[in-house]
Amino acid sequence: MSQIIFSVLLAITIGIFAYSAFRIYQLFKLTKPAYPVKDFGKRIKRTIVNAFLQERIFRNRIAGIMHALVFWGFCMILFGSIEMVIDGVAGTERALSFAGVVYDLLMAAIDIFAYIIAILIVIFIIRRSLLNIKRLHGKELSKKNHIDAYIALSFILILMITLAGMNIFYLAGNSDTVGIYPVSSLIAPVFSSMSGDTIELLHNINWWAHIILIFIFANILPYSKHFHIFMSIPNVFFSRLTPLGKMTNMDSITKEVKLMMNPETAFAAAPEGEAAPARFGILDIEDVTWKNYIDSLACTQCGRCTSVCPANITGKELSPRKMIIDIRRRMKDKGNHLVKEGKDYADGKSLIRDYISTEEIWACTTCNACAKECPLNIDHPTFILDLRRYLVMEESAAPAQLNAIFSNIENNGAPWQYSNQDRLNWTE
Ligand code: SF4
Ligand code: SF4
Repeated sequence: MSQIIFSVLLAITIGIFAYSAFRIYQLFKLTKPAYPVKDFGKRIKRTIVNAFLQERIFRNRIAGIMHALVFWGFCMILFGSIEMVIDGVAGTERALSFAGVVYDLLMAAIDIFAYIIAILIVIFIIRRSLLNIKRLHGKELSKKNHIDAYIALSFILILMITLAGMNIFYLAGNSDTVGIYPVSSLIAPVFSSMSGDTIELLHNINWWAHIILIFIFANILPYSKHFHIFMSIPNVFFSRLTPLGKMTNMDSITKEVKLMMNPETAFAAAPEGEAAPARFGILDIEDVTWKNYIDSLACTQCGRCTSVCPANITGKELSPRKMIIDIRRRMKDKGNHLVKEGKDYADGKSLIRDYISTEEIWACTTCNACAKECPLNIDHPTFILDLRRYLVMEESAAPAQLNAIFSNIENNGAPWQYSNQDRLNWTE
């Protein structure tokens, strides 16, 4: 009977998750191409270093170690959850125990990490609620964002408590156990005076509560900032390999420049009837690339980018974290309508101005500090450059100082107000 109940719950969980994944896939279909994904060797190496070894997170030593422990603990606990699913469907008990010593070590790691993570989550909750840590606050983080964070932290805490409870009552109720449980084995004797039935009941309550919470949590994640639990590793894998700060050329503009420099060759190179790009840069959510969107889904809202942004630090209207959150917000607000009502849907708003002001866009110094600091290799400056490209190339809406430089380049072939013919006059 319990196998049937478990299998039905699992099927419902997978069904709902598949529906959410399909909706996100439809939103990805609205996005534009970014860059070709190649160099898999380099990407795997980067994923190991940045994602699994959490290289960047240690720049902030204490918070970094705490987050890394939670991440590594989750990786271990994942194997325990897979075993629970196998046990639940097949009616087995400790299905992976055939692995012998490896299983013993795995169970030992899971047991230790369950307590470590529980303690760290309590610290995170206290830190978030009582300590005024600047990077965990910001005008872009609404009340919903904070509630979202508390819900996820509470879920994880209960998951760890039920995991520890499972281990404790498993040890208290069995003399012949498999696996090693270094911490729970110290607590289990406290409960060994209870009747066998009570211990079994408590073990079952913890087992079912743990797995049902995992099922619920997995289906809340796609709608929460904690979706990064799924998206962060893919985001690091797909992150750009070119050096930060290297601007991507726009093919259409390269052709225009070639045409200007050498009309004959450029005409010869341009295929007949080639369509002009629908829009230069990014105005709204249909213009973002799949990489911009995956960045927004992977963002943990940790605020490390904003905390190092010189524009933000000096009081400008710019928070790189907000920009990434805005992509996801806009996709949620407009993307679902575009999917349902077609590409002509319009709500009279756009990402630029209604979500991200031009003041924010022009406040960026393109120093790349945000992208360098982000533990998930999110690339803010490239996105900001594309917003600027729209403003300059579609609206000619650059700040006055830049417009003066543009016209100097156009008229003098140099950014200064003197002809490039005169550039050596200073020698005289
Ligand atoms: S963009 Fe990166 S550094 Fe900034 S809040 Fe998101 S995850 Fe943190
Ligand atoms: S690149 Fe722009 S957004 Fe990023 S840290 Fe520098 S000024 Fe801030």
